[in-house]
Amino acid sequence: MDYTEVLQQIAHELRPVIGQGQVASYIPELASVSPHHFGMAVVTIAGDIHTVGDAREAFSIQSISKLFTLVMALQLEGEKVWTRVGREPSGTPFNSLIQLEAENGKPRNPFINPGALVCTDILCTRYAVPENAVVEFLRPLSGNRNLHYNRAVAASERRTAHRNAAMAHLMKAFGNLSNDVDDVLDAYCRHCAIEMNCVELARAVVFLAHGGTHPEGQGDILNTSMAKRLNALMLTCGTYDAAGDFAFRVGLPAKSGVGGGIVAVMPGECGICVWSPALEPSGNSLAGSLALERFTTLTGRSIF
Ligand code: GLN
Repeated sequence: MDYTEVLQQIAHELRPVIGQGQVASYIPELASVSPHHFGMAVVTIAGDIHTVGDAREAFSIQSISKLFTLVMALQLEGEKVWTRVGREPSGTPFNSLIQLEAENGKPRNPFINPGALVCTDILCTRYAVPENAVVEFLRPLSGNRNLHYNRAVAASERRTAHRNAAMAHLMKAFGNLSNDVDDVLDAYCRHCAIEMNCVELARAVVFLAHGGTHPEGQGDILNTSMAKRLNALMLTCGTYDAAGDFAFRVGLPAKSGVGGGIVAVMPGECGICVWSPALEPSGNSLAGSLALERFTTLTGRSIF
């Protein structure tokens, strides 16, 4: 399939909507990003790369990091992870506190903020500098040896992370956080501030299209069964409160972040990443969601 042609058509069709929506402003450093960017990349299992637009411009991966911290937590703890975090869609915003209180400090899934904080806690137990462990994990996966997190973005989020701090304290009170709350929040804000571009992110998720094995020789990241489960979680929980609608429209496992990035997986075929910073109200990239919807429509492919 000529994905380059498909991507060019998508970029052309979407021109009128790029910039519609709101750039995330609750993290002050992100508020200054132009809403007019649009980039998209497809990396196939065979290693072919197809791009359009700003596909090689780095952006803040934010909640897409939750996918990678979950993979690392699963590598460390296996099934035990599920004693501390569930795997049901939450039906609430990613930073909601109400459900967490009602459900005794056990987050619904690893892709809402409290669920990701539990995964970060697991990394804090294992690593002296957990954010560096995430960076080290991502360098070979993404093919970028200089991958790093943006200290200004991390500090800016950390200064204003009151809701995340409230969630972390609540979970600590319920006995579902082992490490010091401040240490977990520091590591969390830093791995959210990792910067990557669409090509690197599409490459970093291609193992999920390939039964958990990295096609370019990084070996088994997850076993086939866990890779299947991760894809299932992305489909049901990866785009927050909009996951049902996203599955309906796009039909691919995906994970979004408030930096405007969305990664998606076409099993047996490719990893995909789209970036456009302006968001719809659930926190997913508005143009990015539409681009993925057009991608599965134009190619006639999805998981269904
Ligand atoms: N770092 C962001 C936060 O905790 C990530 C949220 C997101 O991308 N949805 O609020």
